[in-house]
Amino acid sequence: MSKKIALLSLGGTISMTEASTGGVVPTLSGEALLKRFAIQDSSLEIVAISFRQLASAQLSPSDLIDAAVKLYELAAAGISGVVISQGTDTIEETAFALDLLGPKGLPIVVTGAMRHPDAPGADGAANLRDAIMMAAQQSAAGIGATVVMDGEIHAARFVTKGNTATVRAFHSTPIGQLGWIKEGSVDLIVTGLTPPLPDIPLPEKALPPVAILKAALGDDGRLAAKLIDLGYAGAIVEGMGGGHIHPVMAERLAEIASRIPVIVSTRVVGSHVLRKTYGFVGSEIDLSRRGLLLGGWLTTGKLHFLLTCLLANGSDQTGIRGALAAFGGC
Ligand code: ASP
Repeated sequence: MSKKIALLSLGGTISMTEASTGGVVPTLSGEALLKRFAIQDSSLEIVAISFRQLASAQLSPSDLIDAAVKLYELAAAGISGVVISQGTDTIEETAFALDLLGPKGLPIVVTGAMRHPDAPGADGAANLRDAIMMAAQQSAAGIGATVVMDGEIHAARFVTKGNTATVRAFHSTPIGQLGWIKEGSVDLIVTGLTPPLPDIPLPEKALPPVAILKAALGDDGRLAAKLIDLGYAGAIVEGMGGGHIHPVMAERLAEIASRIPVIVSTRVVGSHVLRKTYGFVGSEIDLSRRGLLLGGWLTTGKLHFLLTCLLANGSDQTGIRGALAAFGGC
């Protein structure tokens, strides 16, 4: 009996064609992608599911939760692996979301393309073929969700986009890729990621709004001061270096953090928020003393999704700290 692989298409450059109004827009369905890229494998039955047809910046956290729910349905129906095709701009959020919430033990592989199908040197066909090959691998079952792009396999929790246009756009600092897809086979060289992911149930309630603020030189925190009035239930503040923020903004954020969870991330991608080095006003030690949480090494976008789910599930400060610990935060 052939293995059954599902292709869940969400849109993105891989599915884009020229619009009469200029530029490319997502138009190709999952079925059309398989046809267009002549994806065939006699050992596999590939089922296309057109789930969304959006640019990836148009997705919202609830789309990702819906996709996770869909994966449970597919797993229950006996699917052996799932490929999600989508835009590369937020591929890291989707992969992280499905890693966190999707069925364990089901190969979940997210892919996309940096060049649309009509562009010279379009990469969609190769990426989709590689991702399907990866999803059909038994060894992909125990390693969590991955992103497969340009022949490289990346772990969802580390992968990030590092270029807006080149084909080799993804990296996973500091651990690097988990392996390659080359010469027609999957070569996994890293299999066990620690620590394990926190156990987070699929949110069933409406998702609360979580803000993202980015620290800037001299920011006096006037935007931060408005968060509660604007109805935000939590916030991620992307600091400089080890998680550092202007003193006036820190003052404002301390007030906010006494009412809603505020997590500090760093704008230094591939690195982490410090915990106990600097003691100046607005430093990680100061912010932590004022009740802000420290986000470890997760990127701001991934922290945003994590906090959204935690708040939807009713997690308190202790629960949030516990989840952050899996990512080096506290
Ligand atoms: N540059 C993007 C892409 O790959 C657009 C998007 O994310 O939808 O796919």
